Amino acid sequence: MINIKGLLRENIKPLKAYEAKEIPCKVKLDANESPYGISSKLLANLGSPKSQRLFGALNRYPDPEAKFLKKLISRDLGVRLENILHGNGSDELIYYLITTFGGPVLYPIPTFSMYGIIAQAIGERRIEIPLNEEFDLDIDRIPGAIRKERPKLIFLSSPNNPTGNCFSSDRILKIIESTSSLSIVVVDEAYQPFSSKKGFLPLLKDYKNLVVMRTLSKIGLAGLRVGFLIADAGIVNEVDKVRLPFNLNSLSQAVAIEALKDRKTMKSYINSIISERERLFNELAGVNGIKPYPSEANFILFKTEDPDRIYKGLLKKGVLVRNMKGVVDGCLRVTVGTPEENTVFIRALRQMLGSK
Ligand SMILES: *Cc1c(COP(=O)(O)O)cnc(C)c1O
Repeated sequence: MINIKGLLRENIKPLKAYEAKEIPCKVKLDANESPYGISSKLLANLGSPKSQRLFGALNRYPDPEAKFLKKLISRDLGVRLENILHGNGSDELIYYLITTFGGPVLYPIPTFSMYGIIAQAIGERRIEIPLNEEFDLDIDRIPGAIRKERPKLIFLSSPNNPTGNCFSSDRILKIIESTSSLSIVVVDEAYQPFSSKKGFLPLLKDYKNLVVMRTLSKIGLAGLRVGFLIADAGIVNEVDKVRLPFNLNSLSQAVAIEALKDRKTMKSYINSIISERERLFNELAGVNGIKPYPSEANFILFKTEDPDRIYKGLLKKGVLVRNMKGVVDGCLRVTVGTPEENTVFIRALRQMLGSK
């Protein structure tokens, strides 16, 4: 009998498969998805002759360069084609970055779990530096850790998942400047469309060690799996060497192109989420025993006395949120939904805790 465990690489042995359990619920506010899918206009277009040509061409491989999609992104973000690399979600691009440059990989915690999971899967060392009390970068510890450990890659999610805040741009800049000859700094801007703060795309021309990541997942197209990395062509060309040739399938490319062309609809969905986030924050602040943290993203982290009880109570009422136990103790994270969904959530919470 073959001993499968005996064949495993050492770094794979302690890993567990990523759990994305499907928990039945009426109102799903646990995964930072957009409550708005593709518009009915786009849906109708999928029956058009153009779409039928696409479906008829599924015997062919997809465009390995995703030319048309990248052209749209290039226009939307104001960056050149040669500075963009497309991924099957930004998750895949994190994989490619660590495959290309290796470790150690440094990131603050709590943050997006994939940086650590992928580093471990590839067998690279992880350096985790806790955020300070304000959920900002600990500027007393990070420079020292960089000098001592010499990380090849530094991942900064800003706005940060799960805390919702942007890190101070001065601190991010300080890190980019102080490591310019040592490390690549990846600013993961998955939630930038919801943020009032300036992103880092304008700084790409000044810093050759800066990478910015964007994704369509949080703005209504999580099911398509489309992400982008934007960086100096020197970096893009190296990461492109490890990219699987057909990483972005034809249907995802085609639907993403149609969705992005309708900028007005995309923008109106984003604006609705931003204004609902502000309402949700104020309502949360008015519930007994709840402390919401300000957010620049499409979700809100909040503290409560008995998070397990509140989590279960909400689920009983059909509302699924994320329990942050073990990540940010004492906290739950709620994604901003439609106005109706948010009202159901707030009403359920008030029934359990009462108003201030
Ligand atoms: C959700 C999320 C992503 C998205 O990854 P995709 O693979 O593009 O869906 C990336 N970074 C952060 C910080 C996230 O929270």
